[in-house]
Amino acid sequence: MDALPCLLEYSPEALTELLAGWGHKPYRATQLTEWIWKHRATDFESMNNLPPELRQRLAASFSLRPLRVIEVNHSTSGTTRKFLSRLEDGHSVESVIIPAAQGQAGAQSERLTLCVSSQVGCAFGCKFCASGLLGFTRNLTAAEILGQIVAAEELAGERIDNLVFMGMGEPLANMDNLLKALEQIMHPKVLNIGARHITISTSGNVPGLQRLAEFNRPIRLAVSLHGASDDVRSRIMPVNKKWPLSQLIPALQRWRRSSKHLITLEYILIQDVNAMLPEAEKLAALAASLHAKVNLIPYNTVEGLPWQRPTEEHCRAFCRVLIRHRVPVTMRYEKGHDINAACGQLRLRRETGAAAEPQQRG
Ligand code: SAH
Ligand code: SF4
Repeated sequence: MDALPCLLEYSPEALTELLAGWGHKPYRATQLTEWIWKHRATDFESMNNLPPELRQRLAASFSLRPLRVIEVNHSTSGTTRKFLSRLEDGHSVESVIIPAAQGQAGAQSERLTLCVSSQVGCAFGCKFCASGLLGFTRNLTAAEILGQIVAAEELAGERIDNLVFMGMGEPLANMDNLLKALEQIMHPKVLNIGARHITISTSGNVPGLQRLAEFNRPIRLAVSLHGASDDVRSRIMPVNKKWPLSQLIPALQRWRRSSKHLITLEYILIQDVNAMLPEAEKLAALAASLHAKVNLIPYNTVEGLPWQRPTEEHCRAFCRVLIRHRVPVTMRYEKGHDINAACGQLRLRRETGAAAEPQQRG
């Protein structure tokens, strides 16, 4: 039997329309929206201010959760948590909860960031990435994207206030579902996370960038560049053959003109591939032309892949070239490396099979 559609992807407006079609007044949709998003109801039975016939009809037509958390892993530092969710069709996706301390003297406040997946696997096949190794299975629905946030909030016992689309998959290759999920994420009566707290990471999908620009919300953009020349980039990112730098750079310039935020260029440092110092000079020139900031990520090893992380000393030397050119640069020491929850390490170790109860691994 096919899974029931999930109400998480119905906006308050869509619920009003749905219930109007069933002969109900708009206030019923307001009540339903509150049950879903304020009280986080997991069954229709508990929605005790809705008439029983309506509850029954909803239960026969819709679900409230599109996925089930089946495994939780904690990093050794105890802060980063990766969880694996089973989707209705038996596939699984991973998401990572990352607390980031925002400290001012004496007043520490924690922001909770969630790294979400947008697809099962990825079709782009970047040579260094665990998700790319898997190949592409399918797009996630908007409800499955939203379901990861709801699950994370249930696990953490608090609200997620920062969202990064840096899990498995290429978000801009799943545009319709991404935009539908974003509407819900930003909706004040739904998740109410501001566009400024959402980062979309793309490997350089040029038509997708155009559509995201037309969406016209101040979302942050991260671009997985990883090569500042076509020969280096094409070697590790097949997407560069389809949309080479001669197309990607103008698309980023257009994005920059329409957005108030700096673009972040993600650059993994891989020994003898893209981490040679002359490449740093090219990267500095490219970043300067885009007024972009650069995030250097010493490569996270992926089982089965030959690539190596350069020495820390070499990473610092690469970083210094950018600093010398006055390019804003950060070097990301990743959280969650020990549980394979760091960028590019998300891959499904469990495949379909009997669903297990959530496990805590530490
Ligand atoms: N498909 C999108 C979203 C995934 S984000 C994209 O590529 O941008 C995952 C981030 O982790 C990307 O910047 C990706 O290039 C990076 N990444 C992939 N494999 C990695 C690895 N082994 N070590 C460090 N970063 C990696
Ligand atoms: Fe896909 Fe991004 Fe991994 Fe490339 S880096 S294979 S686009 S998830």
